[in-house]
Amino acid sequence: MYFERLKLALPAVRERIDRACRRVGRAGAEAVVIVAVTKGHSLEALRAAAEVGLETIGENRVQEARQKYEAAGDLGLRWHLVGHLQRNKVRQALKIFELIHSVDSLRLGLAIDREAAKLGRRAAVLVQVNASGEGAKYGLPVDEALSVASGLCEMDNLRVVGVMTMAPFVSDEEILRRTFRRTRRLYDECREHLVKFEARHLSMGMTNDFEIAVEEGSTMLRLGTVLFGER
Ligand SMILES: *Cc1c(COP(=O)(O)O)cnc(C)c1O
Repeated sequence: MYFERLKLALPAVRERIDRACRRVGRAGAEAVVIVAVTKGHSLEALRAAAEVGLETIGENRVQEARQKYEAAGDLGLRWHLVGHLQRNKVRQALKIFELIHSVDSLRLGLAIDREAAKLGRRAAVLVQVNASGEGAKYGLPVDEALSVASGLCEMDNLRVVGVMTMAPFVSDEEILRRTFRRTRRLYDECREHLVKFEARHLSMGMTNDFEIAVEEGSTMLRLGTVLFGER
């Protein structure tokens, strides 16, 4: 079921990404990474994602991801954590995920740094910003984000490889666009001011807003519903 759906949905999504790129003169829609968000869907969704050639899946809860991860076997997928991470789940998270999109405090950064040191590796993270200023639960306020990013960059066992935002659930295009522009500006500021910042990923755009996000420079889309249907 997931496979049939994805076979139709993925080319359509790619086409929409492509058109958004062309509207703003961005070269190469292939430079936009799709993180297929499988939260709330069964293992079959992950298998289907692998079968249609998607390389990266996103989960938002460590517990759910862990169950799937252990049951999945090696599907050749990269796993990203897109949702909030509690400090007491960091160790488990590092065993599963190669990128954590949701670091929004120095305290969480320190916890990841410490566990990564124990595992003898550096953990790749994104700084999550609440760029809309609306009462979102997670993400740094824009005016604190640069200084927190700076602190994270100084941690030996972290690689800060970009910025992530979640836009508010509104249909007002101007609000969405403004949110993405602020996030893009923060990303550029990090690149400009922080020597250790690795400007690789600008993670913004979900099912409802991904074309606007692409127009505003997103390099990484986190797509659930448009690929797998309603959860
Ligand atoms: C669920 C989720 C997504 C995907 O949402 P859709 O609207 O289904 O595309 C993206 N990012 C995060 C952080 C999520 O929790």
